[in-house]
Amino acid sequence: MIVLEGLTKRYGDFTAVGGVDLEVEGSQIFGLLGPNGAGKTTTLRMIAGILKPDSGRVLVGGHDNVAEPMAARRILGFVPDRPFVYDKLTGAELLRFSAGLYGLQGPEIERRIDELLALWDLSPWKDQLVESYSHGMRQKLIISSALIHRPRVLVVDEPMVGLDPRSAWLLKDVLRRFADGGGTALVSTHTLELAESLCDRLAVIDRGRVVAAGSIEDLRQEARAETAGLEEIFLRITRGATDSDIARAVGD
Ligand code: ATP
Repeated sequence: MIVLEGLTKRYGDFTAVGGVDLEVEGSQIFGLLGPNGAGKTTTLRMIAGILKPDSGRVLVGGHDNVAEPMAARRILGFVPDRPFVYDKLTGAELLRFSAGLYGLQGPEIERRIDELLALWDLSPWKDQLVESYSHGMRQKLIISSALIHRPRVLVVDEPMVGLDPRSAWLLKDVLRRFADGGGTALVSTHTLELAESLCDRLAVIDRGRVVAAGSIEDLRQEARAETAGLEEIFLRITRGATDSDIARAVGD
């Protein structure tokens, strides 16, 4: 459902994403893991069509998202890590606006708004201005606006940030049902526990390149760590501070 071919993004001389090849099949939750600055957000923004690659391409449901942007966008929902929300809209107005962007029409719009707000217990806030929403409530609203047109592909950058445990559990359930119903969810996360408990397959990205991809089992073999949890696998696959670096920095 999502194919990345030689995807590359540079900022001046710095290569943020350097030739990423990746295939994400349908009916699954795929996790994108990687240390800070690895290139996860840059990759997801290129998949969502917000950022143009310098080279390479993205296919969403077989559509090249630069050559056929509308076809790709129609089947994709995107939840950015730092969404811009216009505070002077009410929750319902924001969702109506998103529905309009995706070409939804008629009574289906109000039905969908009510359904999604009820899912997150936001119905009482339907006509309140977004400026009065808490961080977690905003996150739920943004997720709702990405789901409003029933996309087949959902791309979520750091899904759990700001959500309380119950909402995080609910979102996991939403993502699982979405994938079981034939959807493709691509999520980036730092939370290894979340990746381990939620994702069917994973890719580890480091310094703009995919350094490992597959099921947790595949990653275990890659890290030559047959019994390790994801944290140990992650630390082995990605570079980082060694014990002696840490000792030097904290002076013991
Ligand atoms: P984190 O987990 O910390 O959110 P990430 O894996 O999502 O990190 P990106 O946000 O994709 O990483 O950034 C990848 C690299 O590209 C970083 O080194 C970042 O500083 C750089 N970068 C991102 N956006 C820009 C920009 N607009 N201009 C210059 N450099 C950028």
